[in-house]
Amino acid sequence: MGTETLEIRENYPLRDITTFGIGGPARYFAVAHNEAHVREACAFARENRIPLLVLGGGSNILVSDTGFPGLVILNRIKGFNSRTRGQYVFVTAGAGEDWDSFVKRCVENGWQGLECLSGIPGTVGAAPVQNIGAYGQSVDACISEVRAVDVHTGGEVSLSSNECGFEYRKSIFNSQSAGRYIITQVTFRLVPEGVPELTYHDLKKHFPDDSAVTPAKVRNAVLEVRNGKGLLILEGYESFKSAGSFFKNPVISAGQFEKVNEIIQKEGCGANWAWPRRSGDIKVSAACLIQCAGYTRGHRQGNVGLSPKHTLVIINHHDAAAAEVIAFARQVQGKVREKFGVLIEPEVRLAGFAPDALPLQK
Ligand SMILES: Cc1cc2nc3c(=O)[nH]c(=O)nc-3n(C[C@H](O)[C@H](O)[C@H](O)COP(=O)(O)OP(=O)(O)OC[C@H]3O[C@@H](n4cnc5c(N)ncnc54)[C@H](O)[C@@H]3O)c2cc1C
Repeated sequence: MGTETLEIRENYPLRDITTFGIGGPARYFAVAHNEAHVREACAFARENRIPLLVLGGGSNILVSDTGFPGLVILNRIKGFNSRTRGQYVFVTAGAGEDWDSFVKRCVENGWQGLECLSGIPGTVGAAPVQNIGAYGQSVDACISEVRAVDVHTGGEVSLSSNECGFEYRKSIFNSQSAGRYIITQVTFRLVPEGVPELTYHDLKKHFPDDSAVTPAKVRNAVLEVRNGKGLLILEGYESFKSAGSFFKNPVISAGQFEKVNEIIQKEGCGANWAWPRRSGDIKVSAACLIQCAGYTRGHRQGNVGLSPKHTLVIINHHDAAAAEVIAFARQVQGKVREKFGVLIEPEVRLAGFAPDALPLQK
């Protein structure tokens, strides 16, 4: 598989290849198994002057009810190899590899660095896009190189971690260069026999004795914690149709924090909800703001609502339309803004919507 030319189909349904299970068809659709396929897809989109969207596991995206008006490429580029250099092992994986299977394989080899990111759905190639993170780890700490095809030129590029512009849930791939690169391969720098450092309180509880911490034990603990929050889309676990956290945790100034904190303290609705950053501003829990604004876990409105296990996760109960999700998300954003003066921005990517479908920070 993978040497033949790209097969481009028309009006391909997207809902079943997203974890939200929502959305209309792609005008054109193709599965890329190698870089040549990606270049071919870019050329097709350029020639036909249509937009291009790459999908991996479809676990961080909401597709509009009318679908996507251009070419959707499903990235299935595989591959795995490792080489030891000095104290590190450099592990390269194809962008279409399943993320959690990749993490599992690294953990089984005793390579430390990605264990807290166990159980996140999706593909290797999407991990740098929003700089995935969980339980005190974010993927940028281990990324050594990202290889991609430049959609404009069809040329191949190699980007160092610095060039990816990583920040909290941000990289050049979802900000200034969004849509420009299709990631084909990622190289991670991991530590053989490394000892994980635990910073997240829910995880620390699993390890009263620090000396026994290994990547494999941390992976198991993370899977247990994620299961408790309904965040595992793996066989044998209860899950919901969602795209994970719908909103990012907002980062606010010290001045804004004072006002928000006053309300939270007065109403007694926050615990472990604010994390000061080196820059002086403060990251606050969007889940806490949403709860204080009047929503509880499991809140339901028609076909959509909040997960019964996690306030930050908007779920599709049954055949929801994308328009219902947007209307509900706007309502939640509005209530939070009204109460705290803080805009919570979507973490989920939107495909096939008008740019102002959901309010964003100017
Ligand atoms: C239950 C659940 C739990 C989750 N938990 C977490 C969590 O703990 N932490 C976290 O950070 N995220 C979490 N997520 C979000 C999601 O799993 C991650 O963002 C993941 O990396 C998305 O991977 P994907 O392959 O499904 O991307 P997709 O949803 O297919 O795509 C997401 C975005 O990335 C772009 N993209 C995908 N592949 C490529 C590529 N090869 N090159 C360039 N752009 C690309 C797409 O165009 C799109 O804009 C969760 C989601 C769910 C459903």
